[in-house]
Amino acid sequence: MIIDEYAKGLFQVGGGTYAYVQPNGYWGQSNAGLISDGGQSMLVDTLMDLRLTDEMLTVMADAVPAASKIDVLVNSHADIDHTYGNQLVKGARIVASQASASEFFKVTPEYLVDIITNDHSEGGRYIAEKMGSHLFDYSRIVLTPPTETFDRQKTIMVGDKEVRLLAVGPAHTAGDVIVHSVQDRVVFTGDLLFLGVHPAIWAGSVEGWIDACDTMLSLDVDTFVSGHGPVTDKNGVRTFRAYLVEIRAETRKRFEAGLSVEEAAFDIAWSPPFDEWLSPERVVGCVNYLYRSWGSTDTIDDFVGVFAALSRYAKRKRATGAEHVHTASCGHAH
Ligand SMILES: [Zn+2]
Repeated sequence: MIIDEYAKGLFQVGGGTYAYVQPNGYWGQSNAGLISDGGQSMLVDTLMDLRLTDEMLTVMADAVPAASKIDVLVNSHADIDHTYGNQLVKGARIVASQASASEFFKVTPEYLVDIITNDHSEGGRYIAEKMGSHLFDYSRIVLTPPTETFDRQKTIMVGDKEVRLLAVGPAHTAGDVIVHSVQDRVVFTGDLLFLGVHPAIWAGSVEGWIDACDTMLSLDVDTFVSGHGPVTDKNGVRTFRAYLVEIRAETRKRFEAGLSVEEAAFDIAWSPPFDEWLSPERVVGCVNYLYRSWGSTDTIDDFVGVFAALSRYAKRKRATGAEHVHTASCGHAH
C-alpha cells in the first residue's frame, strides 16, 4: 500500500505497521514508525524534541492502544532528529546497532543551544535559522542512549510479527539500521532514504550507502518509509540510489579537475527530479564528505564551518537565481 498523499500524521502502511510522517522532510522534519501486534508495540525512532515526540506518541496511542506503552524503541541511527525524544519511552528497551552506539549525542542540546544563542558567525546564524528555538525546544532533554546493541542482525518479535533489524552501515552514518516488518512487507529506512530533499552526509560511506540501497531493493517488500520525505515503494529507493551515483560521479569529475569543495558543489547541475529537491545547499556537505573520503586535505572539518559553507552556497544560489530572472534571453517564462 502506497500513500499518494504527503501529509503530516500517522498512516497505516501494513496490517499493524504505521508511518509517522513530517513533511517536507527538511531540517529536523524526520519520519518515524510504529509496529504493533498482540498488545505489544515497537517504535522506530523518536523526533527532534520532546514536544514533537510527545505529540507523535499521543497520536499513536489514540490510533493504536498498545502504543500507549512502547515496549521496544529502535533508533535507526544516532542523529538528533531521530533520538532526542528517547526519554519519553521510559521503561522501553532501546535498541541500536553497535556501530551507532558511539555516535549517540555527539551533538548535545547544550552545545546546539550555545551555537544558536551565542555564535553569530555565518555558520552559527545558519544553524539558528534552520534549527533554532523558534522551531524546536531543546530544554528538558535528557540524553537517553540505547540499552542494548547488536552487531549485524537481530530479530525481535512484536506479538506474532517478526521484525528484522539489519545493520547496513557505514552508509549515511557508521551505524544505520534497516527495520523490516516482515509480515506487513514494510521497511523503515531511517536516513538511508531521503526523497524530495537533498540528503545530509556528514559521516558514513557513499559506497556503503549505495550497497544499502541494493540491500533494500533485494528485500521482498512493498513499502518503504523514508527518513525524510514521503512513503514510497522500490521506485523511490531506485531514485535515491541514482542520486548517490550521480553525486559521486559529478563530484569525482570536479575533484579530478582540481576544483575546491565549494566550487565543485556549486558547479554541479542536477538532472530531474533532483533539480527540484529542497535544500540544495546540502550538496556542499556531500561534496566535502566525498573529498575527504578521497584523501583531499582541502576540506571543511569543523561542525559550524560546514554550515557556513552551506549558507554561502544558498546565498550564491539566490544571487544567481535573481540574475537569471533578469536575463531576457534565457528562454523561460517568468
Ligand atoms: Zn534525519
